[in-house]
Amino acid sequence: MIKGKIHSVETLGTLDGGGIRYVLFMSGCPMRCRFCHNPDTWASPPAYEKCAPEVADDILKYSDFFKFSDGGFTASGGEPLLQQDFLIELLGILRRENVHTAIDTCGSVAITEKLEKVIDLCNLFLLDIKHLDPTTHREITGADFSPTGRFLEALNLRNKETHIRIVILKGISDSTEYAARLAEFLKKYPCVKKIDLLPYHNLGVKKWEKLGMNPPSFEAPDRQETEKFAKLLEASGFATSIQ
Ligand code: SF4
Repeated sequence: MIKGKIHSVETLGTLDGGGIRYVLFMSGCPMRCRFCHNPDTWASPPAYEKCAPEVADDILKYSDFFKFSDGGFTASGGEPLLQQDFLIELLGILRRENVHTAIDTCGSVAITEKLEKVIDLCNLFLLDIKHLDPTTHREITGADFSPTGRFLEALNLRNKETHIRIVILKGISDSTEYAARLAEFLKKYPCVKKIDLLPYHNLGVKKWEKLGMNPPSFEAPDRQETEKFAKLLEASGFATSIQ
C-alpha cells in the first residue's frame, strides 16, 4: 500500500478552501519560492508516512465540524500533486464519505491520465499563480510558469471549480498594472470562481534561518495598494478576498 509522505497536520484550518478544514501538509515541492512560508516541507525524508485509510480515519473524526461549517479536507504542502497515487486513494475514500475536498497546488506537474483522475476526484483547486511574467516567475520560484498555465487549462477543460491564490510582493506583484494583466489573463478561464490575495508577511523567515538558508528579502505590500489591487479584480468581475 502506498504511504503518503506527510510534513504535518492542521485539524481546524480556516483559510484553505472554505469552512473548517483538516489540512494535510505534504512533503516535497518542485518549486523553490523565495517567499515560501513552509521551506521545511521541501525536505526529504518527511516527518512521517501514513497510508490513505489511516489518514482518512483521522480526517473523518472531524466530520461534524465539516458539516457544521461547510468545510472539509485540504491537501497542501509542499506540493500534494507529487503524491498522486496516495491522493487518488485518499480522495476516493473521502468522496464515498461525502467529505468536500480541496487541493492547494502550484500546478507545476505534467498533465497525465493519473493527474486527470486526481482532478476528477477533487471538488476544488486552490491554484497558486506566482507571477505571469516568465522571467520574474523563474527568478522568484526557480521554475517555469508554463506547467502551471497548462494545469489551469486542464482544470478549465474539466470545468473544475478553481480559486486562484496570489502572494502579493511589494514592487513585484502589487501594482494595478499587474492586477489588470492578471484579470485579462484569468478572464479566459471560467473555472476560476474566486481570487485570494495573500499579502506577503515575514513570519516564515525564522524557518529559513533554522534551516541554515538565507532568508527572503521581500517587503510586505502596503494595505492600500492591496485593496486597490482587489478592487480592480472585482471590477473585472472576480470575487476577491484579502487573507
Ligand atoms: S510552491 Fe508553495 S511550498 Fe513550494 S516553494 Fe513555493 S510557496 Fe513553498
